[in-house]
Amino acid sequence: MGALFDSIEAHRRRMGSGLTVMGHHYQENEVIRHTDFQGDSLELSRKIAVLSSPHIVFCGVYFMAESAALLAGEGQRVYLPEPSAECSMALMSPPLLLETVLDRLESAGCQIIPLAYVNSTLAVKACVGRRGGAVCTSANAKIMLEWALRQGDAVLFLPDRHLGNNTATLLGLPEKERLVLDIRDEGGRIEPVRAESPHLLLWPGFCSIHTRFVPRQIERVRTEYPGIQVIVHPECPPETVNAADFAGSTSAIIHYADALPEGATLAIGTEINLVQRLAERHKGRVRILPLVESACTHMAQTTEERLAATLDSLVSCEADGSESPFMVRIPDALKAPAEETLIRMLAVCRQAGV
Ligand code: SF4
Repeated sequence: MGALFDSIEAHRRRMGSGLTVMGHHYQENEVIRHTDFQGDSLELSRKIAVLSSPHIVFCGVYFMAESAALLAGEGQRVYLPEPSAECSMALMSPPLLLETVLDRLESAGCQIIPLAYVNSTLAVKACVGRRGGAVCTSANAKIMLEWALRQGDAVLFLPDRHLGNNTATLLGLPEKERLVLDIRDEGGRIEPVRAESPHLLLWPGFCSIHTRFVPRQIERVRTEYPGIQVIVHPECPPETVNAADFAGSTSAIIHYADALPEGATLAIGTEINLVQRLAERHKGRVRILPLVESACTHMAQTTEERLAATLDSLVSCEADGSESPFMVRIPDALKAPAEETLIRMLAVCRQAGV
């Protein structure tokens, strides 16, 4: 398999239960093959709560490793093999701009409840937590938006306008009740919310990987493969979601493929690494193809080489007592308010029985 493969596996054997390597579904196979657990960001975060290994290497992007570090127990350390692997969508809502926008929206006395998709930075989650808001995932966005709409005068959903819009459609919220904010001029164009304003305000962020999926690709596969089913991620634009048979989170897409009857054909509109692994898993039973190939370059920054370097650093740091440069540090001031957003989400989901 090669020197890098051997080096990583030797480290994993030597560290045994002291090390857990986790990988997001969008990671490439050369990384995934070294992981103990694979999942979407929520599944991996949940896993952390029950892990006992002191060293957790998280193969994903920065906001995911931050969430993992937030949930890690006393004495546990989280490492990100490529510390510059940032999700471009998470960076579309800078925390200071969010504070300014919320201040302006509330300046006429209305209360705005911020609801942040987990694909946001820790600083954003902390701001949301301090203002009575919560986080949500693509799997529970509907329940969380329903909750948020009951809490204040309006909701600010961020950073993904498409997930916000698609979720509002599921709730039957009319178009006139939604407004995509104009955040240009450092938030200077934001008008205060009043009683007659729309109840759902959408931050204008998006995932550049999922916005590549458009309705004409769905038309093409339907013509080429009669009877084909099409599933897309809810980060896709609303017109794409409307043209598909089903839209669902990463775990919902996996379950959908698992449940298809033998001989079915399925086109999937999500990150290519996940689609290719599902195609491999169901080969000979179900035909799975990508709507188009769309790869996340941020996820691809984590390579087998970076993983090997991370594990090498754990060995040398253990020897000289220093801290690994790959370790993810959480500023103390952000910890409690960011945790608050997760606690609120879990409480709402528990109450809803999910
Ligand atoms: Fe961010 Fe989109 Fe990449 Fe996910 S697929 S990490 S949301 S850019």
